[in-house]
Amino acid sequence: MTYQIPEKMKAWVLGDPGELTLVEKPVPQPGKSEVLVRIDAVAICATDLEVIDRGQPAMIQGGLPFNKNFTPGHEYMGTIVKLGPGVDEYKVGDRVAVEIHAGCDTCERCREGMYTACLNYGKNYEGNDKGHRANGFTTDGGFAEYAINNIKTLTKIGDNVTDEEATLIVTAGTAMYGLDMLGGLVAGQPLVVTGPGPIGLMAVAVAKALGANPVILTGTRDNRLELGKKLGADYTVNVRNQDVVAAVREITNGEGVNYVMECSGAPNAINESTNMIKRGGKICLCAFPAEPVEVDVAALVRNNICLLTIRGEGRSAVHRAASLISEKRFDASLIHTHTFGFNDLPTALKYSKERIEDAIKVVVKIPG
Ligand SMILES: [Zn+2]
Ligand SMILES: [Zn+2]
Repeated sequence: MTYQIPEKMKAWVLGDPGELTLVEKPVPQPGKSEVLVRIDAVAICATDLEVIDRGQPAMIQGGLPFNKNFTPGHEYMGTIVKLGPGVDEYKVGDRVAVEIHAGCDTCERCREGMYTACLNYGKNYEGNDKGHRANGFTTDGGFAEYAINNIKTLTKIGDNVTDEEATLIVTAGTAMYGLDMLGGLVAGQPLVVTGPGPIGLMAVAVAKALGANPVILTGTRDNRLELGKKLGADYTVNVRNQDVVAAVREITNGEGVNYVMECSGAPNAINESTNMIKRGGKICLCAFPAEPVEVDVAALVRNNICLLTIRGEGRSAVHRAASLISEKRFDASLIHTHTFGFNDLPTALKYSKERIEDAIKVVVKIPG
């Protein structure tokens, strides 16, 4: 199979903070261990909104990404249309989901599989090139017709997975990575997910697929909690109407849970998690509050509670999440709520940011 690849493509680029412009850019050429992906769909993530408005955590040429002809967007999928030299792991025509980070592969963290915490983050420009790539953060991303991807970041997907669903694989991979950090062996053990945002909802689905029992989801909005039930939550607790700690204790016969996946970023989340977990339990922080918060460290230490964090989707978790999705172990597409065309990206971003019509995952289709 061959594809006609034009010389120029349409791409959105970031100007000043909050300012995106649709421009023409040359279609990039894949190098060694890279492929050219024709982007078919891209989902919008809260982190895209951060990057567009505030810059971080994107880093281009050692600094903020503004006015550098940089294209954001990181939750995309597409079709391989050209192979770089030596690539035989994939074929032209393969449909792929992509994960964000291809670390430098040389530093201590990359060698441990923690490539999302690569010590050479952003170092990929002339004069300081360690080969680090993170789509839409340190290299051009998915708000464009084409993107270059290192083969390390690709996961093949079957025809039973739709374009929209495939854009959600990286979110499920992030939830999977969090469960990895908790030890991964959650079968038969009670687990709480706090916060029914995209990662929280995917954490419910993945934890249930891995056999956690019961899976308890907490949050403030009933419609999101209902969605959580469809994705596998055995119990939900609306923290506006109920004392969340008491409710979790009651569900678990007073014992508490073994694990908490903290996906809310609420200021008191660590303290509440500490009180709903068994002694020696583990908390994984997948979200964080905007401001520094007070934490009852004594309660954590006295109860031997282990506090873990994740950044992104390490240890090839995206591959395992993709497998669960293609096996239809849960319906990721339930969190996809809106679709827009490529030229309507600003509207899509607005829907995502302002949660218009209770938008959860907003997907942009290309062409559209
Ligand atoms: Zn994201
Ligand atoms: Zn590295």
